[in-house]
Amino acid sequence: MTLVKALAHLTWTLNQSHARRMGERAPDGAGPDAWRNWARTESARPRRVARPRDVAALAAEVAAATASGTRLRAVGAGHSFSGAAVTDGVHVHLDALDRVERVVPRPDGTTHVTVGAGIRLHALNRELAARGLAMRNLGDIDRQSVAGAISTGTHGTGARLGGLPTQVVGLRVVTAAGDVVEASPDHEPELFELARLGLGTAGVLAAVTLEVVPAFRLLAREEPMPLPAVLEGLDDLVDGHDHFEFFWFPHTASTLTKRNDVAQDEHLPLPRWRRALDDELLSNVAFGAAQEVAARTARWTPHLNRFQGASLPPRTYTAASHDVLVSRRRVRFREAEYAVPRESVRDVVAELASWFRATRAHVPFPLEVRFAAADDVWLSTAHGRETAYVAVQQYHRLPHGRYFEAARRIVAEVGGRPHWGKMHDLTHADLAPLYPRLADANRVRGRVDPTGTFRNPYVDRVLGLPG
Ligand SMILES: Cc1cc2nc3c(=O)[nH]c(=O)nc-3n(C[C@H](O)[C@H](O)[C@H](O)COP(=O)(O)OP(=O)(O)OC[C@H]3O[C@@H](n4cnc5c(N)ncnc54)[C@H](O)[C@@H]3O)c2cc1C
Repeated sequence: MTLVKALAHLTWTLNQSHARRMGERAPDGAGPDAWRNWARTESARPRRVARPRDVAALAAEVAAATASGTRLRAVGAGHSFSGAAVTDGVHVHLDALDRVERVVPRPDGTTHVTVGAGIRLHALNRELAARGLAMRNLGDIDRQSVAGAISTGTHGTGARLGGLPTQVVGLRVVTAAGDVVEASPDHEPELFELARLGLGTAGVLAAVTLEVVPAFRLLAREEPMPLPAVLEGLDDLVDGHDHFEFFWFPHTASTLTKRNDVAQDEHLPLPRWRRALDDELLSNVAFGAAQEVAARTARWTPHLNRFQGASLPPRTYTAASHDVLVSRRRVRFREAEYAVPRESVRDVVAELASWFRATRAHVPFPLEVRFAAADDVWLSTAHGRETAYVAVQQYHRLPHGRYFEAARRIVAEVGGRPHWGKMHDLTHADLAPLYPRLADANRVRGRVDPTGTFRNPYVDRVLGLPG
């Protein structure tokens, strides 16, 4: 058995025993349609589960739900930490709508690719690569569906790059009445705005057209750096690289920095054994073991964090963009993430460091800091401002409440906007002042979903009512 296979097998075995310990199957008596999200923070017992094979069946499903006054929610891969995908009505899975429908090269060198909305990002990346194409930017993982990822504003990092919804140029939307509408910046532009990042409130997305670019390789440089040096040189790091991010280990001055730039002539492939060692053994198996140790012995956390900060060896390599940007996250965790004005991120990190010093909070998971360009998507967390994202994460077996509450308090001082797919307790009253186009979004909801088919408790809390 090769090292790669052995590590994959070991990780799979650990995941299985973890799953058994956590009782991850639907609770007894919940029925075959019971649903839980990846993080096990949300669950649902829908009245009915639908798996339409095509857009006509999907439209019939939506029209029937509206006619009977039943709520309906599409669900992707269940990778939102928030209750975005929860419903007690009809849960619609679009796994069958996963084909590449159309590929249209453009005079400007980009390509418009239309795909079924249920396609998972890993399958999409494969399909694009086979055609010599790639997404401009990606988040950390590729398990999500394309519709789910854009609907909550999934983003990666890069000061000159926007989140996934900024790569969308067209959508096929099934509205509450069961009408199938093609929406784009030129046709039904307001529906397009809400549908490209709207928590599923504009309707069910049946297809997504993305603007993609010729496939490219990235030159990746990953290395530890002391936190003060990162903060001091932050603007150069962020502006000087196509994608920059850092992970900071609480209670320490250790960070792991990642700088990724479009590769020119460099050719430094990572040997398979090295990828397996770093990405499976160190980032998942050893990291998971460290979290287990930390979960049992709070006073070791600072030592463990120092060890974790030093355990990932520096590396420089080139690979296809999606192989660099995406990694596997097998260690389960809880997460809250806030978009803050880029210029305030140093203050936010400093405040968090003070909080750790004052509370000695038991947090063995690193924080992740990323960046994005300002955009004009109505409900984007980066709407109208250059943005830094501060993600606070906690191992799933440790309490996260006090930590996440402290983060919420700290970012509130600088107008922090919560990621729509991550954990937070903010309400429409908190969010309305942060989103200048929220009232427009609700006006469009009132037009396309007058009877509230696509409402659920999370949407009611964060967006308020349509109309
Ligand atoms: C391990 C992990 C890593 C992550 N990394 C990142 C990251 O790097 N960057 C980032 O920004 N986020 C990240 N996330 C968050 C994740 O990208 C988002 O929560 C995303 O929405 C999940 O996509 P999904 O397909 O699982 O959608 P779900 O969680 O199933 O659904 C999300 C929303 O989309 C709606 N929806 C789904 N399908 C449709 C459809 N066809 N039509 C209309 N609405 C629909 C749902 O109703 C719901 O409101 C991560 C999450 C996890 C668990």
